[in-house]
Amino acid sequence: MKISKENTILISGASIAGLSTAYWMNRLGYQVTVIELAKAPRTAGAAVDLRGDTVDVAKRMEIFDQLKANRLNVEKISFKNADDTTAGSIILENESSALPDDEIEIERDQFINILLGRIKDEVEFLFGNSVTGLEETTAYLKVSFKEGAPRHFDLVIGCDGTHSGIRKIAFGPETAYAHFLQAYFSITTVNKLLIPEKTMQMYNVPDKAITLNAYHGKTDIIFGFVSEDEIFHDYRDIDQQKKIIQEQFSGQNWRTAALLEETLNSDNFYFDKFCQIKMPCWTKGRVALVGDAAYCASPAAGMGASLSVKGAAALADSLQQHNGNFELAFLDYNKKLRPFIEVVQATAEINVKDNFIPRTEEAIRLRNAQEHPF
Ligand SMILES: Cc1cc2nc3c(=O)[nH]c(=O)nc-3n(C[C@H](O)[C@H](O)[C@H](O)COP(=O)(O)OP(=O)(O)OC[C@H]3O[C@@H](n4cnc5c(N)ncnc54)[C@H](O)[C@@H]3O)c2cc1C
Repeated sequence: MKISKENTILISGASIAGLSTAYWMNRLGYQVTVIELAKAPRTAGAAVDLRGDTVDVAKRMEIFDQLKANRLNVEKISFKNADDTTAGSIILENESSALPDDEIEIERDQFINILLGRIKDEVEFLFGNSVTGLEETTAYLKVSFKEGAPRHFDLVIGCDGTHSGIRKIAFGPETAYAHFLQAYFSITTVNKLLIPEKTMQMYNVPDKAITLNAYHGKTDIIFGFVSEDEIFHDYRDIDQQKKIIQEQFSGQNWRTAALLEETLNSDNFYFDKFCQIKMPCWTKGRVALVGDAAYCASPAAGMGASLSVKGAAALADSLQQHNGNFELAFLDYNKKLRPFIEVVQATAEINVKDNFIPRTEEAIRLRNAQEHPF
């Protein structure tokens, strides 16, 4: 299979991994279709980071200047006591122009819109639909959809997140690949400042954490808690998820009651377990996975967007290097990206326990005494 408009690629998921992959596959010269379960791009969510050499990928994608123009800038992180006094603070660089270029924080919805802007006129989008079946022949994949007639594609790329539908169809159930990190989190963004802009505040008791992050007139309210066992819940049932947060946090000190009320009344709510996806191989036949679907490191890594952007470019580079021979390209993609993913996942496992949700008073005290960001 050569790289040409004759050859078609279906990408499942229109978030950071899906849109980045669509960008590269279109630029290489394939005919690209993106299918997304939601009726429109899902723009909820807090700030995301681009770190390290992922910033170089953003430069290659010609989106770096736009990302930089919209970057967020945290000036101070404060660790709070129950009575709202400050137990410790980290002061960060406060001049946006002096910030290093190898770490850019940006609102998730702005990132999605910047990526969409690069490809929306060149790629076919199917919103409100999903893949229900994949049948592979020697020449193509026959893809069945929830809505509409089956179609043939040369390659299918699953960019549909931690609970990937493509992974389930092509590689089997999530339980084989998901590693629960014994914690859950929710993120709600409210359109007002609950703390001064460009600051973060964290309040912890053993096994529970509340974080506020204020920027652009908004505040992210993030609840996190430890749970030794998985809590059964439907990941599309938001009321059920809000109830879990309410049960975990009601009765806690600091500003918890007011923050819970903001969260329970908000339409903007994202909940998931801290978990990692670990797979021996991210490709099978004509199917490949990119982003959280393949190697989610959990939000504790702060690398979800970076892994997606880097992974999409790695897959594209492998296809280009092997002139569209997807079998060789997929081998290359698996081999070259894996060492980086392993380091990020190992760091995130430590981060959940030590920095986000310390398990003891002593661990909280040590975390609060830090002078450098984690
Ligand atoms: C609404 C939302 C809010 C988020 N908020 C945060 C946040 O605040 N902080 C944070 O660290 N991370 C957040 N994340 C996760 C973060 O975006 C990812 O960790 C990271 O960017 C990797 O992106 P991804 O594209 O691999 O996966 P995701 O961003 O999870 O995107 C997966 C996409 O696939 C779509 N999809 C799912 N199943 C199917 C299916 N069967 N068929 C077709 N499409 C499907 C989803 O609707 C989604 O658009 C959020 C994700 C979403 C979807």
